[in-house]
Amino acid sequence: MDGSVQLEMRFGAANYAPMPVTLARGKGIYLWDENGRRYIDMMGAYSAASFGHCHPRLVQALTDQARQLDTVSRAYFSDRLGAFLGRACALTGMDQALPMNSGAEAVETALKAARKWAYKVKEVPADRAEIIVCDGNFHGRTIAIVGFSSVPQYRDGFGPFPAGFRSVPFGDAAALRAAITPNTAAFLVEPIQGEGGINVPPPGYLAEVARICREQNVLLICDEIQSGLGRTGKLLACQHDGVKPDAVTLGKALGGGLLPVSLFLARRDVMQVFKPGDHGSTFGGNPIAAAVGLAALNTLIEENLIERSARLGAHLLARLRAIRNPIIREVRGRGLFAGVELERDLASAATVARRLLQAGVLTKDTHRNTVRFAPPLVIEESEIDWAVDRVAEVLDEFARADVHP
Ligand SMILES: *Cc1c(COP(=O)(O)O)cnc(C)c1O
Repeated sequence: MDGSVQLEMRFGAANYAPMPVTLARGKGIYLWDENGRRYIDMMGAYSAASFGHCHPRLVQALTDQARQLDTVSRAYFSDRLGAFLGRACALTGMDQALPMNSGAEAVETALKAARKWAYKVKEVPADRAEIIVCDGNFHGRTIAIVGFSSVPQYRDGFGPFPAGFRSVPFGDAAALRAAITPNTAAFLVEPIQGEGGINVPPPGYLAEVARICREQNVLLICDEIQSGLGRTGKLLACQHDGVKPDAVTLGKALGGGLLPVSLFLARRDVMQVFKPGDHGSTFGGNPIAAAVGLAALNTLIEENLIERSARLGAHLLARLRAIRNPIIREVRGRGLFAGVELERDLASAATVARRLLQAGVLTKDTHRNTVRFAPPLVIEESEIDWAVDRVAEVLDEFARADVHP
């Protein structure tokens, strides 16, 4: 262990258990450790590094803006924010956007908007609004959000939690219909569950959900923090079902891998429930975040990264599905967003990810014993092939029981 790891372990809270590698440099799809060893990044910082590491155009936008104007707070207008919000709305088809920093903050914003919309517009009786979420969800780590998580560890020791949430099975539109009451404000859903294990719902699920929400006057809020911005081969993953939600959350890749930038976007009649003082964030929408966010959106479009994700994602999934190995239970995914679920008694995804690290491939396990792949969208086909070859070799080792779970 080197000095920085010892310092981090001594002075840092133990709320993460990092893999045994100390990264010191990044460029494109590659990361280097402090000894100069190179790794291919098939994890992409949970989809925050969609543009590859230290993308020159984004670094330029960051440094140019940092020299010009930094944080001024939303107490004043800045000459950067409007263009960013306008571009985000134009691309997503939403009317207005509210900038925050982390994904969890964008989701909290969505929850507040949905509740206030329920009281002001839908006329739900005071303090009775309900929001429906899905089993296996991941929307962040605040108290309200972990309060409706179905992962026991995320909740354990953090109660009491805010009331007003109920959970239904993911991928089951009939369960949603049955759970809606006159007090239901919104249905919050990830079009593809990321942390929950790269869970792809049955075809047509989201379209059916959108129909139900419209009929019942319930807001459909898609959390696209991980699945959005080209990750699944569309700008938004909900577009695979031809769905236009009432509101969307974006984050992760929106900051270009450089800094936290998130947005809550919505229809005007939803967003207009916010009055001055109702909600805010000191750093939300600061000039540097706005400049980087705008550059990230422009780069996504101008470098054709969405089509690239669709094309190369199909290749990645085909290559993963072609691996013949009894350890693999299922390969799921869409675009450059893939999960390989392993047979639990044959191998643990965490052990496989550690072995892949030794082989020069960075990945990470998710729930459901799944190894995730969300490489930067700038990856080349030959680089996917190289990484998948390593995956096949490592799984072979496990199948031959050279390595034990
Ligand atoms: C990562 C994630 C979040 C939370 O984002 P943070 O920036 O970690 O707060 C919310 N929703 C989804 C779907 C995510 O994947």
